[in-house]
Amino acid sequence: MQFCNHCGQLTTARIPLGDHQIRQVCEGCNQVHYVNPKVVCGALVTWENKVLLCRRAIEPRYGYWTLPAGYMELFETMEQGAIRETWEEAEASIDIEQLLCIYDFPEIGHIYMLFKAQLIEGKFGVGPETLETRLFSEEEIPWSELAFSSISRTLKHYFADCRKGKLEILIETLSLDKPMIQTQNDKVTPA
Ligand code: ZN
Repeated sequence: MQFCNHCGQLTTARIPLGDHQIRQVCEGCNQVHYVNPKVVCGALVTWENKVLLCRRAIEPRYGYWTLPAGYMELFETMEQGAIRETWEEAEASIDIEQLLCIYDFPEIGHIYMLFKAQLIEGKFGVGPETLETRLFSEEEIPWSELAFSSISRTLKHYFADCRKGKLEILIETLSLDKPMIQTQNDKVTPA
């Protein structure tokens, strides 16, 4: 941020009094402009032991398969974000069952919150950011054509826990391994 969004004057990068790291500080009104992590919400949606995947119609990773997920909006809960993203990408209404995965991406300041959900009446479609939507059994998952490492990690965790008969919440820190995850610079809906 080069200009203050309160008063329009130039900001400079410096450590504010009593703080411990560099922030953009307004020279006019002294407003400190904090930049905090972004939350991505999504869902692993199933129907009759199959998982719903969407083939991306947008960059990055155009044509690769992903779970419905995207940036959380203001004034919604994480569950509402996952439900909204699933509707936007797969035109599917879902019932959220539980939290499934939490991923930290400290290198890019992202937090992923992925829920386990179930399709309502097995219905789904194709949203504007999606080329194709399909249900896959574990054997049918196109592992080499998944868009991001977080997607394959989530699917592996899910199928492993299904075999154990108990879904547990996976909490992991993932590192940046382009092109399997995207950066904020891509300026499109993630994952
Ligand atoms: Zn200002």
